Parts: sequence; C-alpha cells; structure tokens
Amino acid sequence: MDAAERPATGVVLLDRNEPCAGATGAGQGYLWLAHRDPSSPAWQLAMGSKAMWPQLLAPVVPELTAEAVEWQSIGSVLIATDAEETEALHRRAALLQRAGLDARCLPAADVPQLEPALALGADGSALLVPSDAQVNGRAAAAALLRACQAHGARFCALFQEDAAALDQGPSGRVTAVRSEARRIAATRGVVVALGAWTGGFLAAQLPESAAHWEGAFRPRRGLLLEMPRPADMPQVEHGLMEMGYSKHYSSSTALSGSSSSTSSSSSTTTSESGDPADITFTATTSASGTLLVGSSREFAWCDGAAPEAVVEAIMQRAAVFLPGLGAVQRSDISVRAGPRPYATAGAPMVGPVPGAAGVVVAAGHEGSGLTLAPATAELVCDYLLGRQPALEAAAVDMLRVPFC
Ligand SMILES: Cc1cc2nc3c(=O)[nH]c(=O)nc-3n(C[C@H](O)[C@H](O)[C@H](O)COP(=O)(O)OP(=O)(O)OC[C@H]3O[C@@H](n4cnc5c(N)ncnc54)[C@H](O)[C@@H]3O)c2cc1C
Repeated sequence: MDAAERPATGVVLLDRNEPCAGATGAGQGYLWLAHRDPSSPAWQLAMGSKAMWPQLLAPVVPELTAEAVEWQSIGSVLIATDAEETEALHRRAALLQRAGLDARCLPAADVPQLEPALALGADGSALLVPSDAQVNGRAAAAALLRACQAHGARFCALFQEDAAALDQGPSGRVTAVRSEARRIAATRGVVVALGAWTGGFLAAQLPESAAHWEGAFRPRRGLLLEMPRPADMPQVEHGLMEMGYSKHYSSSTALSGSSSSTSSSSSTTTSESGDPADITFTATTSASGTLLVGSSREFAWCDGAAPEAVVEAIMQRAAVFLPGLGAVQRSDISVRAGPRPYATAGAPMVGPVPGAAGVVVAAGHEGSGLTLAPATAELVCDYLLGRQPALEAAAVDMLRVPFC
C-alpha cells in the first residue's frame, strides 16, 4: 500500500481482556437466516452481512481466507416437530422466498436422506436454506486481528487494558479515551462496542442519560457444548435448529423483548442464577469434525463454572432430535459460556450516542453478533466518515439509539 492509499485515520482497539473473552469466544458462528424474520429490525444487517462475508474472504488479504475463518457452506435446516409447526414452517418459507432467499420445505419422509442423524415424527417437516453458512467465531476474530495488524498501517491493539473514561471537550465532543496507562486522542471518533458491558460503561460516562444506558442491555448467558460425534451416529450435515429457536428473532418478540413462545418446542430449566434458562436445540459439525450442540438463554453474567443443570437440559433437549447423543458421556463434553448482549429495546443499537458527539455505539446483537458483524462495521464506518449509509434509511432508523 503506498502512502496515498493509506487510511487517514489510525485505529486503536482497546479490550480489558484477551481476544474473545466475551460473548464472541462462546459463539460458534452460525451465519443463518432461516430462523430470521424479514420484518425484524436486524434483517437488513443480516442480509448486508451475508453479501459481505464472501467479499471479505475473497483472496485479497492473505490472513483473511475461508480456511482461516473455517468457513463452511453447509446450509441450515429449521425443524418443525408437529402439524402446527409445519404450518408455521410453510408460512416462514413463503416469507423468506419473498425476501429473495432460496427456502425449501421438505416433508418428514424426505428428511432422513437430507439429515440421517435426525429423528422426526410423521407430522414434522424441515425447511432447508442452502445458502446459510457458518464460521468459527474465534478463528474469524483472530484472522481479522492478524489482517489488521499486517495491513492496517496505523492499527494498534491493546489487550488487558480497560477503557476507563471518555474525555469530553467544552462543546461536548468526545476528544479522547482514557485508560489507566494512557490517553488516546480520538480524532474521528470513538466506537463503544463492549457487548453486555456497553450500558454500564456509557451510564458511567453520561450522567444525564445514565438511567437509559443502565437499562439498555442485559447479559444473557448462553452455553454451547462441544463433543466428539458418537461412533454409531451419522454426521450432522447441516446447521440444525428447532422451530422454537426462531422465537428469539421474530419482529414481535424482538421489539417487546419477550422470549415467550407459542411453540411447544423448547424447554426451560432453572440454574443457580434463579432465572429460568430457555433451551432451544441447535447442532452442527465444526470444521474439525466435532459436534456443537446448543443452546441456552438466561439473564445472568458468566461468572464461574457453567451450571450443570443447564448442560444437562441442553443434552436432554438435543437427544430428542439426535437420539444418537444418548451415548455421550458428560466427561466428553466441553462447555463454552458467554454473555450475549441482549438489547432491552429488542434490536441491536448501531448509531451515534446522543449527548456525546463523536461516539458511535455498536452493541446489543444478542445471539447474532457474528452473523451481523460485517454490515454493522460498515454502518459504524459510515457514521464515522460522514458517508451516506449503504443500508436502507428505514433500517438505519430502527438501529438508532432509541432515547436521547
Ligand atoms: C453460546 C453462544 C452461541 C452463540 N452463537 C452465535 C452464532 O452461532 N452466530 C452468531 O452470529 N452469534 C452467536 N452468538 C452471539 C455472538 O457471540 C455475540 O452477539 C457477539 O459475540 C457479541 O460481540 P460483541 O463484540 O458485541 O461482545 P463481546 O464479544 O462480549 O465483546 C465485548 C468486549 O468488551 C470488552 N470490555 C468490556 N468492558 C470493557 C472496558 N471498559 N474496556 C475495554 N474493554 C471492555 C470485553 O472484555 C469483551 O471482550 C452466540 C453467543 C453465545 C453466548
């Protein structure tokens, strides 16, 4: 890159922990659209990101390749277990098709050919979205970091360093980020993307809107289980998820913040957090061939060992769909836990922070941060560089900070 091409702005990445210490380290990286609602606020982010992932992985930056992020174009399958869910699945297929996706409904009789490990009753059915894909979130974050370090002429990553405060000038514009060790001047702006910690940080910086920020995000602990595939169980070929999983992504629950469902598929259990953990089945095969089985949702931080009751409940739910899992021993399972950043307003927040000119927030992506990351980053850059956002205006509005 010659001097003329160099970005005018340097970038400093600051994290109080090591890379992937938050939710990103726990998420697998399903880039799935099958369970999403085209009328939900994050749909445009999802579609934009879907188009951007292949561009990011085009062989331009040597560190950022399909192999490096463990990209798998395996498609996803949403599973209906009874006649009522099958009806809902057909409605969903029509919605996704209208939104431009290839979405195919298959009767129960055709499912064994598609996914031999899956057990499904005669009234069940499956919705296949062949274009859905997955990455490994940790590998993707590491590859992006290496790419920035190798090619970002003025990129600097500081780990184990807390962002302690924002400095505001007399006009209210934020001029710097302070850590204990240094003051980092913010010429273009500051992006606050602290996952579930975002609200606490902004509440401490902005006393006038502290109450809003304190209530804006909640940590929603999620567990994902990794295990070897039992020898006599066929390989899971696609990304699998039960119909009940889509309740976390419908426009009505997204906006109300409710996680209640009309679906009978999914279960709850109570762990030491006291909050009922909602369990919805997902499964896939990682690039290395291990099985990844999920997942749980409960409003709690990840502070300590993963609750055994939740691990057990995830396995019980999963065995309903994949009976071969009955052979898995607890000692075969490793557990990942992370605090999904849940936005209480029901949609990710990506936009300028009122009362702090120069600050852009990007948080609240709950269980979709890896899926939505490329378009989120693009929108953040649009704000910082004063560009017209590439996303539709209505979508941009739905993602703005909903209070001032
Ligand atoms: C079990 C599970 C499975 C998931 N599966 C998927 C999936 O398949 N697909 C998908 O798209 N998404 C998935 N997700 C969701 C996804 O992981 C999150 O949406 C995403 O990782 C959120 O990223 P983030 O950067 O906003 O937050 P985080 O990854 O939590 O990062 C926040 C960072 O901020 C740092 N920090 C906090 N406070 C400060 C401070 N004051 N100063 C400096 N640094 C600070 C923390 O150390 C942390 O590293 C899953 C999540 C879980 C828990």
